Amino acid sequence: MAIPFVSKTSKSTLPLRLFTKDTFEKFRKGAKPKAACVWMEAAGFKGQAKKVVLCPTAKGDPDYFACGIGDFSDLYDFSYLPQSLPEGTYYIDTALSHTQAVNLCLGWALACYDFNRYKAPSPDTDKKYAKLVWPKGVSKADQRFIQSVFEATTLVRDLINTPAQDLGPAQLAAAARKVAKTYKAKYTCVTGKNLLKKNFPSVHAVGRASSKEPRLIEFTWGNPKHPKIALVGKGVCFDTGGINIKPAGNMRLMKKDMGGAAHVLGLAQMIMQAKLKVHLHVLIPAVENSIAGNAMLPMDVIKTRSGKTIEIGHTDAEGRVILADALVKACEAQPEFMIDCATLTGAARVALGTELPAMFAMYKKTADKMMQAADKMNDPIWPLPLYAPYAEKVSGMTADLTNSPANSQYGGAITAALFLKEFVNPGMDWVHFDMMAWNTVTSAGKPKGGEAQGMRTMFEFLRQKYS
Ligand SMILES: [Zn+2]
Repeated sequence: MAIPFVSKTSKSTLPLRLFTKDTFEKFRKGAKPKAACVWMEAAGFKGQAKKVVLCPTAKGDPDYFACGIGDFSDLYDFSYLPQSLPEGTYYIDTALSHTQAVNLCLGWALACYDFNRYKAPSPDTDKKYAKLVWPKGVSKADQRFIQSVFEATTLVRDLINTPAQDLGPAQLAAAARKVAKTYKAKYTCVTGKNLLKKNFPSVHAVGRASSKEPRLIEFTWGNPKHPKIALVGKGVCFDTGGINIKPAGNMRLMKKDMGGAAHVLGLAQMIMQAKLKVHLHVLIPAVENSIAGNAMLPMDVIKTRSGKTIEIGHTDAEGRVILADALVKACEAQPEFMIDCATLTGAARVALGTELPAMFAMYKKTADKMMQAADKMNDPIWPLPLYAPYAEKVSGMTADLTNSPANSQYGGAITAALFLKEFVNPGMDWVHFDMMAWNTVTSAGKPKGGEAQGMRTMFEFLRQKYS
């Protein structure tokens, strides 16, 4: 998908005049000639959000589109435009602040997405979105940033939307390799039984029942003298739930259980494009949680890279098990900062709904800065606590830890985060995101299906810290 912006106006480029209800009211009072207002009002236009009307010249030619834009405060206020305007090219004929102009472009770009790879060609699937001339005040650097967000978001959405038949652990590894090679990152991958030889037993235990071999995908990038940061993403390419099989309704969307891995790849791409001054280490444990005779069983005890053992209280709590070895491996390089992303628990969705990733941070100062970045980027997240008194809930009966506390239907997002903390170096500046990675319905700029959630926020946080 090409980014929906062009650099020059042409004869057929029509202007867009953007209104709020207030600015329309002022315009209406001062309008000369009155005819334009009469036309707009007859079409029901009062500057209200998500409404466009084509205004003619006195001769009856198209003159401009009047567009209602909420209150200009949110980038998604602009996202309805590329789908509501006829195919063509437009320019903005309203004064905007720098932030508004950048937000308009981001909101516009994020709305231009379809996933039609598996559909027969038709006018619907070949729909072309309205294009915009880069607005005034959007610098070349801004354009590069907007392009980077567009490409990373498209990558995340595409990876999540691709069905498991075409995105197993091998294909996820190929996608990671492609990102790595593009930026000359050093890529490695440990596959199948080699996971045992190289001491990634928890990744192997979860993935061994699938005919698609499990793997630990890694790449490093950047100047080794720069601060080390690690990104870890859960890559469960399909989650049947294992022997504790999921009911059909809960299993339906489980191609998205590699959403954390997709976020880490999108974020890594943005970091490398922006050449942030970091030494980047990306780790993705990639498996399919399948059902077969050799699948792990409830109350099996799984070894991990750190030496701590895990009792499998529930085979569907597999994400934290594969993340254990990946987090330990990441910590061996002593990064000064680490993020992990995972579609980890239903409990996080019960707490915050599907649109707000839950954030768990080792340090409050980091959490505060992440929240500020979220505000700035219009990319919300919400903090939940690593509440220490709950840590005893993740201790095991016959093993050091359990992946699923018995008799505990409460606080599941927190206990999952506390379980991960057991595999993170004490005191490390670490942030864990538990996310949906999926839009359950389509809204402007957020098409139904795979979605990047909190990725712009994470990037902005890192940009402030390391540029
Ligand atoms: Zn699961």
